[in-house]
Amino acid sequence: MPTDDLIENHEQTCRRSAALRTAPTIEHPPVVRSTPDAEIAALLSSLSRTRYSRFLSAITTPRTRHSLSPEFRSIMDFAATELEDAGYTVTRAPVSVGAGTSANLIAHLPGRGTDTRNPVLATAHLDSVNEAGRSLPAPGADDNASGSAGVLELGAVLAGRKWENDVVLILFGGEEQGLLGSIEYVEALTPEQRTQISAVINMDMIGRRNTAISGVMIEGGQNSQPLMNELVAAAGTYTQLSVTTSLNPFASDHVPFIDAGLPAVLTIEADDRANTDVHTDRDTLATVDPSLAMEILRMNLAVLATHLGVVRDGPLVNNEVVGAADWSA
Ligand SMILES: [Zn+2]
Repeated sequence: MPTDDLIENHEQTCRRSAALRTAPTIEHPPVVRSTPDAEIAALLSSLSRTRYSRFLSAITTPRTRHSLSPEFRSIMDFAATELEDAGYTVTRAPVSVGAGTSANLIAHLPGRGTDTRNPVLATAHLDSVNEAGRSLPAPGADDNASGSAGVLELGAVLAGRKWENDVVLILFGGEEQGLLGSIEYVEALTPEQRTQISAVINMDMIGRRNTAISGVMIEGGQNSQPLMNELVAAAGTYTQLSVTTSLNPFASDHVPFIDAGLPAVLTIEADDRANTDVHTDRDTLATVDPSLAMEILRMNLAVLATHLGVVRDGPLVNNEVVGAADWSA
């Protein structure tokens, strides 16, 4: 039973309790194995398990990352510095959590395309929680340092190439109190921005191996089906992952995007409900398997890169001129 008075909607944020209420709709799509694209394969090879593990370790260092804690702010500062150093423009947006204020961190890398550009979003929640009480340790290693480190790792790799479309990376606050950061972000998007976004890939719990074979679940809504198909194909072509899918999105930051009709998915470790350590002091770094996270990042990066479009020949357009659109809502 949660005793944290700031968990405003426990059923909305706890995957286990929410899953118990709903009938499983998990499917096992056929494996799709295509010929790997050389450019994508080269990009995937620049993912670094060493760098990912450094991010993971840094994010799990404080005792808690409760949305309203000073430690949450410190880790957000760490992430901001990493992304700024990589070349992103970084902004923070306030997020109301009860009577307090948390934050979203938004990092933007404008594309070089001259026409309308279609941003891709990679997202994760940075906050953690211990349901037994706000003063107790909440290492949140799997939930969700694993996904937050994933955003930083994707950010490091994506900053090393020139893309046609915009990269937008978001670390949300207030997820554990009811998806508050993602709800506020989506509400602030203009109608034009909503039509431009081509993909939202959310990562929440990508590091605990609950199954004998490394596996991922891809979860989305009806509007996410093409994106889900792309992820299934990328998993078959570039990874050894066993893939399951679900059209019953719940309990993470992909939901507000899906509710707004956007093509959003959650990528999450297979059988996440088997991880009974989430939201306790047992969700520690020692229980995370970076090799599973790296496989999920390979799948996600292959699809993000395809949406972003590599800039090949021809003159580059000055970012100052075309990068004016504000994605930092
Ligand atoms: Zn989570």
